[in-house]
Amino acid sequence: MVRESMMRVAVVGSGALGAAVADELVRRGLSVVVCTAEESRPPVTDVAFGWLNSHGSAAEPPSGARDRDELARSLGVLRNVTATPPLRGVITWNGAVSWASTAAATARFAEQSGSGVATVEAEALRQILPGLRVAPPVVAHASDEGMVEPDDLRRAFLARARAGGATEVAIRVDRIRARRAGGYELQGTGAALVVDRIVLACGTGLPALAEQLGEHIEVPGVPAARFTFTAPELRLDRVVSTPAFEIRPSARHGFVGAEDVVPGETEAATRARVRASLSAVREAFGLPQEPVLGDVAIGVRPIPAGDGVLCAPLASAPGIVALAAHPGVTLAASLALRAAEQLGNP
Ligand SMILES: Cc1cc2nc3c(=O)[nH]c(=O)nc-3n(C[C@H](O)[C@H](O)[C@H](O)COP(=O)(O)OP(=O)(O)OC[C@H]3O[C@@H](n4cnc5c(N)ncnc54)[C@H](O)[C@@H]3O)c2cc1C
Repeated sequence: MVRESMMRVAVVGSGALGAAVADELVRRGLSVVVCTAEESRPPVTDVAFGWLNSHGSAAEPPSGARDRDELARSLGVLRNVTATPPLRGVITWNGAVSWASTAAATARFAEQSGSGVATVEAEALRQILPGLRVAPPVVAHASDEGMVEPDDLRRAFLARARAGGATEVAIRVDRIRARRAGGYELQGTGAALVVDRIVLACGTGLPALAEQLGEHIEVPGVPAARFTFTAPELRLDRVVSTPAFEIRPSARHGFVGAEDVVPGETEAATRARVRASLSAVREAFGLPQEPVLGDVAIGVRPIPAGDGVLCAPLASAPGIVALAAHPGVTLAASLALRAAEQLGNP
């Protein structure tokens, strides 16, 4: 039996989920090694939009099952961990505004979202979005939501994990083998590691590793685009999500936006939709000129089959927890707690 205080855990993947779980395991006194694949593409986390979004958007009401309690819990945990250094100030908790194409649909979204989302009419909207020129009759205001540069959050979790003793190794794990003596050996890119337990937080790379352990898990990759832009006259201090655009301010980039990507479409088609959404921003905020587009990055979101959240021990491999989720930046904090608990009781 492995004593918890001596337990050595490998966290495979250092996106939002891997970083948050590494931090949590270190805080529980475990010896943690984070396996980071050196790849040409950054983790999906680094090109996420950065909306800490527990309710969804009136512009695109959630279609499938959403675990509202888990989402709300995650925002609560994030509020706590970012209330003190070194994570203090990483998140801006200014709330989010969204609207649908009709006032009735916006009101329905707010009603179905429960407490935390209220409808706001023209007068109050002027306080929240003073720059808006073409305002809808009613908007949904989620006062408990926030925004973050996702890579800052990920790096802050990793830095705190390192400060607590976690180590990082550059290794793409190709193979996981159960050892006769107990525990597992991870192999890849010329390196090998022996550990007692493992958290697989490697996004779309998870199914290939789980398959080796006799588990069939589906984590399809669904593309989406994050773009940056500048617009000197745009006054905005929170997330705005509408049928025509989804944007937020960014201290680093000016502004960022998110846009769907139709699987298989050309990059030119995605860029054309991004440009159309910037024209809609100009019109809504009465800007004198078109916002200037910066970079457009396409990320492939790991979205586990079912309700989009996977946090479970592998039945065939005691001591290994599979972790993948959408929206993963929002959910990272609470799922890190869940994964840590499951790891302790395989
Ligand atoms: C445009 C866009 C906008 C988004 N907006 C939001 C948003 O507003 N809010 C929100 O909450 N979410 C948003 N998301 C979703 C969010 O980005 C993801 O849910 C989240 O980043 C997933 O984190 P992760 O740690 O699971 O995966 P990743 O960030 O992809 O990290 C997984 C890591 O594992 C590594 N890896 C894979 N295989 C291996 C292996 N075999 N060995 C070692 N390492 C391996 C990968 O290289 C990667 O670094 C958005 C995504 C996109 C693309």
